[in-house]
Amino acid sequence: MFIDGKWVESRSGETFEVFNPATGASLATVPSGNADDATAAIDAASNAFADWSATTAYERSRLLYRSWEIMTERSEDLAQLMTAEQGKPLRAARAEVKYAADFLIWFAEEAKRVTGEWLPSQRADQRFLSVKAPVGVVAAITPWNYPISMLTRKMGPALAAGCTLVLKPAEATPLCAKATYEVFVDAGVPDGVINLVTAANPAPIGDVFTSDPRVAKLTFTGSTAVGRKLAGKSAANLQRVSVELGGHAPFIVFPDADPVHAAKGAAALKFLNAGQACISPNRLYVPASLSDAFNETLCARVDKLETGNGVVDGVGVGPLVNEAAVAKVEAQVEDARGKGAGVPVGGTRLTDGDHGSGHFFAPTVLTGVREDMTVYREETFGPVAPVITYEDPDEVIDLANDTNYGLAAYVYTRDIGVAMRAFEGLRFGIIGINDVNPTSASVPFGGMGDSGLGREGGHEGIAEYLETKTGGFAI
Ligand code: ADP
Repeated sequence: MFIDGKWVESRSGETFEVFNPATGASLATVPSGNADDATAAIDAASNAFADWSATTAYERSRLLYRSWEIMTERSEDLAQLMTAEQGKPLRAARAEVKYAADFLIWFAEEAKRVTGEWLPSQRADQRFLSVKAPVGVVAAITPWNYPISMLTRKMGPALAAGCTLVLKPAEATPLCAKATYEVFVDAGVPDGVINLVTAANPAPIGDVFTSDPRVAKLTFTGSTAVGRKLAGKSAANLQRVSVELGGHAPFIVFPDADPVHAAKGAAALKFLNAGQACISPNRLYVPASLSDAFNETLCARVDKLETGNGVVDGVGVGPLVNEAAVAKVEAQVEDARGKGAGVPVGGTRLTDGDHGSGHFFAPTVLTGVREDMTVYREETFGPVAPVITYEDPDEVIDLANDTNYGLAAYVYTRDIGVAMRAFEGLRFGIIGINDVNPTSASVPFGGMGDSGLGREGGHEGIAEYLETKTGGFAI
């Protein structure tokens, strides 16, 4: 753990082990913090706030820029570590490290774009000034699926704004968090400004983060169930809250689209990170007129995907995070199969040979998926592409919107009018139009409804870490 500028053990001396999800091998033992460690981290962040918030935007920008340089220099080592600890194939890990670094350089620049306003007064002897101030100490809780970029997406804007920070990473990926912190430390972050508490049991840390009056803001990325609980506690203490939660993304192919192109897009997108992404497409709506061509290409592509240890050349799909994740995917597939879905590709756990020591599920296509199947409603977080055949393009936007989630949606069409009507009609925060990667550090990321509150990245990303202060000056 990293508290007040020092690498420390937990106060209780307790530790926990980190495993490679592809091989089951133990990678390391890390400190398991408890409420006392969380409080010590907040002490440090709170004490450091006055000095850090008084630095100039140029100084904070330089720290982030230097962090970007160091992360970029170390990108191969970070990617190797990520593949070992989290499982995604090396190529995907390299892409994530680049994405993670992008947040550092984006917010290095945004730090210098925080400005204020002169505003008019009714009185000739009065002047109004409105400025932005950092909110204070930020508590961050991050997930395992993107174990470096989900940290920089929060740390970049927090540091740029002049906030100090305490962070608890997911218990599956503390080593990526440690390596990310080393980047900032080597870039020269002052003591106490960023603090890291690793823990096997997250609940006591969450309790401290959401109840300590010195914490001004909670930023969380993870499941809707946990985010809802934490946001409730934070709200009771009037902390600011941003939570980036689950999704259930529709992927709509309109009748005028090229079904082969759309199927290639779906196959590429769905199996990224073995489907363990909140923006992963979970419902593929394909018109009856295109379904043969679409399914043929999708199945051919998925059939060719190689599943295994992400360090092996040619592997496109890595392991799932743990046994519970495999069991959830298996239950959804069995439920769909039992209710009449076709399973032309995959559909089973992979347990033979090297697969036996990790958590693997075969890349799967389900056809004939209907509303009464669990997979139609529940987020999967696994390598399963459920295809739903629809008849009426006028109804498909309503079908897509029929979910409590509202994070990402995807649309395939060659008609600009159809594209624009879909963009306007879909109640989702991020919409890809013929585009399987509508994300970037430079644009807002976040969802509606049960997918959360607030936006990360883009110009709005730093706003989440700023308060507005109004000055009335009688002159
Ligand atoms: P997932 O199901 O994807 O693992 P979680 O929401 O359980 O998603 O985990 C996301 C983050 O939330 C992780 O850092 C995890 O440790 C943390 N977390 C889980 N439960 C709690 C809790 N009760 N209090 C605080 N943090 C929690």
